[in-house]
Amino acid sequence: MTDALILIVEDEPEIAEILESYLAREGFRVICARDGTTGLAHHQRLRPDLVVLDIKLPGQDGYEVLAAIRRRGETPVIMVTALAEDLDKLQALRIGADDYVVKPFNPHEVVARARAVLRRTMGRARDSLLRVGPLTVDPDAHRATLDGDAGSLSLDLTPTEFRILVHMARSQGRAFSRADLVDACLPEGSALDRTVDSHVSNLRRKLAAAGADGMLEGVRGIGYRLDAPHVR
Ligand code: CA
Repeated sequence: MTDALILIVEDEPEIAEILESYLAREGFRVICARDGTTGLAHHQRLRPDLVVLDIKLPGQDGYEVLAAIRRRGETPVIMVTALAEDLDKLQALRIGADDYVVKPFNPHEVVARARAVLRRTMGRARDSLLRVGPLTVDPDAHRATLDGDAGSLSLDLTPTEFRILVHMARSQGRAFSRADLVDACLPEGSALDRTVDSHVSNLRRKLAAAGADGMLEGVRGIGYRLDAPHVR
């Protein structure tokens, strides 16, 4: 756990420095961003194990950054807020924060919260085989297999197709918009809906060829959904 990478998004340098030094002293690798845009770029590129996210930031605020992180996946997030009102806490937790701390905080408390969240989520990450009907996806091994009458077939997927499959398999049955998939699965700068369409249609063709016709389907006016066959 101590080699976990923690991203701190905090515009106040003193607070960022305190957090960084306490977390680094515990053996965590730490990277800091001063604003949400930089934070999201680091998140995309470095895939941190945990994000410590301030709410009041210049430009995009912490809620917007949290929502963008959630569109991409399940990276755990601890919100840092100077606002002690219950309403704000509830809002943060409802849109997917894993925990929160209120300023002024004791840095030891933040370290303890970070440890607790990482213990929960890194355990989950080790046991991360995703199963959707006959499909098994192993994100760590970069392997997707499909069980059928003829045994287990390995799918030969491009990195982008694999990312799309992992992302959709994490939320079986959910309808993803093209924008969700662009944010989560495509390298920055290639954010075109029709690019997603072509990756998805290749992925769908490969699933169908392996016997899983209909698992990946279009959702009219929204985008796409991955679900077990014949389960509606
Ligand atoms: Ca701030």
